[in-house]
Amino acid sequence: MDQADPRRRIPRTNDLLALPAVGQARTRLNESVIRDLVRQVQEQARRGELPPGQVEPTLIAALEARHATTLQPVLNATGVIVHTNLGRAPLSAGAVDALVAASGYVDVELNLADGSRSRRGAGARSALLAACPAAEDALVVNNGAAALVLATTAFAAGREVVVSRGELVEIGAGFRLTDLMESTGARLREVGTTNRTHLQDYARVLGPDTGCILKVHPSNFRVDGFTSAVSLRELSPLARANAVPLVADLGSGLLAPDPHLPDEPDVASALAAGADVVIASGDKLMGGPQAGLLLGRKEIIERLARHPLARAVRADKLALAALEATVAGAEPPVVQSLHADVGQLRRRTDRLAGALGVPVVPHDGRVGGGGAPGFPLPGWALRLPEGLAVLLRTGDPAVLPRVHDGSCLVDLRCIPAADDDRVLEAIRRALANLDLADAGRAG
Ligand SMILES: *Cc1c(COP(=O)(O)O)cnc(C)c1O
Repeated sequence: MDQADPRRRIPRTNDLLALPAVGQARTRLNESVIRDLVRQVQEQARRGELPPGQVEPTLIAALEARHATTLQPVLNATGVIVHTNLGRAPLSAGAVDALVAASGYVDVELNLADGSRSRRGAGARSALLAACPAAEDALVVNNGAAALVLATTAFAAGREVVVSRGELVEIGAGFRLTDLMESTGARLREVGTTNRTHLQDYARVLGPDTGCILKVHPSNFRVDGFTSAVSLRELSPLARANAVPLVADLGSGLLAPDPHLPDEPDVASALAAGADVVIASGDKLMGGPQAGLLLGRKEIIERLARHPLARAVRADKLALAALEATVAGAEPPVVQSLHADVGQLRRRTDRLAGALGVPVVPHDGRVGGGGAPGFPLPGWALRLPEGLAVLLRTGDPAVLPRVHDGSCLVDLRCIPAADDDRVLEAIRRALANLDLADAGRAG
């Protein structure tokens, strides 16, 4: 490298590390992340991709853009409310406050009055019992799958779980309830056929080897036509007579019936129908953090709480805090999106369409991975060129539209009205970039 080589003018590592901007970044990022960024920017300059004079400002911009987490907030314009790839339920403002409050030391397992150890998550438990008086007791674990593993292990390890063939569901990404339950050492005793199961089918197999009877709500599909299933109400006397627990895995997590979703089961009704324990998720229709809820008869819940596996699947303080705030707080975003007024959705969509000069088309939202398969939520979408989708996804803020039938559709159902203008600006920028790209191709 001779004296005139511009690479000699690349700022040295120590000089860059001494910049005030680096000092500020140290409050958010650790030394090795910062040094990596410094090295990357210097490398760019060494390869001649960056003039030496640009090293400093480029590093400062890179430090500002780098957050301690690489998870990016996304504006969900798909119309799918419980979107698994977007982390399911967005939390309510109250739940976010609760998360922040619980982020330091908290009395999650301590009685401050007398200094003794207390029951973990007592607040979340009380909130659940207040919201669902039909339950005598409640236990919160990591997620619905963990709740199912705990119940299956505690009731039926080395024995049989009796379940209808029509309810052996796969809940997404190749994840099957059958595999999950068999991993606990329980044997599945399938009864009935895919489309029809009768009470007699259950009665015939119950015996000394039965650990529990399981009813699963097939939350992501529906069988129509010549079908029959046995209700919890019919199964309950059979379970009682054989002294085996009746477990209902509802999946979605409504604590009480929702008139908007007439076919969606809820915890209170399942308990009233005779289930001994009901399993539900915290981050589907309940609209809270990831959590598995077990609600039901006192002695059954206590048995589950005492099982050694309960310790391995216990909920963390952040989930407990957010769950309590969701159950006791104002309507979470999931419920607001579900109940969104269609006239108001139309007005919001029309305003953006007018500002952008693009058409509005009818578009059904969906509940999503959370339940109510096939239940349409009529609404509207902006119809945009398909090529816009990638620009929206990779923009700032990131917007996830639905790509369908050669169009890019933007549905405002799952977007807070306060964010409409951010969506508008994101689309404007993406349209401008699309024009540039098109002009580039044409030229
Ligand atoms: C979603 C679901 C589960 C799993 O719950 P997670 O909270 O996702 O672990 C179990 N059973 C049913 C019926 C479900 O729909």
